[in-house]
Amino acid sequence: MENNPPKKGGIFRAYLNFNVLYKILIGLVVGAIAGVILAASGVTALPPWISVLGTIFTRLLKMIIIPMIVGSLVVGASSVSPATVGKVGIRIILIYLATSACGVIIGLLMGNIFQPHAELATLASDAAGKIADTSVWDVIANIIPTSILSALVNETVLQVIFFSLIFGLTLSFMKVSEDERIRTIASTMYNWFDCLAEAMIRVVGGIMQYAPIGIAVLICEVFAKNGAKVAGALLVVTVACFLGYAIHVVLVYGGLLKLYRIKIGTFFKEARTPFITAFVTRSSNATLPTTMTAAENLGVDKEVYAFSLPLGATINMDGTAIYQGVCAFFLVMTCFGRGLTFGEMAMIVLLATLASIGTAGVPGAGAIMLAMVMQGIKMPIEEGTVLAGAYAMILGIDAILDMGRTALNVFGDLTCTCCVAKRLNYLKEDSVIK
Ligand code: ASP
Repeated sequence: MENNPPKKGGIFRAYLNFNVLYKILIGLVVGAIAGVILAASGVTALPPWISVLGTIFTRLLKMIIIPMIVGSLVVGASSVSPATVGKVGIRIILIYLATSACGVIIGLLMGNIFQPHAELATLASDAAGKIADTSVWDVIANIIPTSILSALVNETVLQVIFFSLIFGLTLSFMKVSEDERIRTIASTMYNWFDCLAEAMIRVVGGIMQYAPIGIAVLICEVFAKNGAKVAGALLVVTVACFLGYAIHVVLVYGGLLKLYRIKIGTFFKEARTPFITAFVTRSSNATLPTTMTAAENLGVDKEVYAFSLPLGATINMDGTAIYQGVCAFFLVMTCFGRGLTFGEMAMIVLLATLASIGTAGVPGAGAIMLAMVMQGIKMPIEEGTVLAGAYAMILGIDAILDMGRTALNVFGDLTCTCCVAKRLNYLKEDSVIK
């Protein structure tokens, strides 16, 4: 029998060929087990040369955010014909906002039921005291950039979204202009952004090949740092959040899919890949290519999903909204030994819905927004206070909570997109329509 000579770069090639999702899941399990072992042996921090592997992963993800948002939103907004924008845009934004508000309410309900809290001695937190004094009205006004260059340089996501949408929508009008010169320059510009968007999708594909290593290290750090310490209280927070996520899927998404007569089984089958990708990457933006593929497979017209999904990845955060509800409850209960008043809860629903719009689709962004929500209910997180300690605890398990909330965020984008597409007859595939 003839022996094939071993191929050059065999292990590397085998690694590249192995299914990315399995690789990521293996990274997750290996990292968690290593973290538990380290915590049990009293090691809470990884050596810098290992820790940097996780940092590299998060930096790679951050690196692509702005070009990805600009590319996909400009292409998304300019691919929709001006007539469709009005119909699709308004509906999708309304459904995104309504589902996020349901998310906060479910989160607050979970908080009331589980009453999560911890007995804390005063803990210092680095994160405390650094939160800017931001009101809801500032958040709304700040959506409009005074300089697009500074918005890009400072990575002010909401401002970049605002400008990209306006720019994309203008291009969509220019592309159908009666003046041939305007049509030509608009198409040239469109092709430029289309190329940017396509290139970014490929860059993300490359980053995902590195993801298993980065994720293993990040998860290992989370488990090593937290160990068994305060595990009880944090476990209650985690259970309350994840139960909230599950209830939201069943009640809100299940209800919407049923209402719009979309076959739930087929939908779930296609939603599985983006769901798992979001769970492990903790980034709605990084999951965008898989969410778009799922929408395509479900038969959603590109005109709708190319617009609604990038928008959803940045402004629709139902999981983040649930997390805000549960965690706000935890913080108030831990620090003041009482639950939330009705007024505080109403304020949290408003703030957390807005906060979820302003939350970038990147790992950990929701935790920063939680600080904004607390500021909004006049309980600012200040250095050296018990509130700061409780907030630090939440930050400690943020990676775990972020996995679930990101998966839900992405699931929500896909659900709302399918429902709006179905409503406006942009859902082609007969197999998903009842
Ligand atoms: N990681 C979340 C996302 O990408 C945002 C958050 O931190 O809540 O959707």
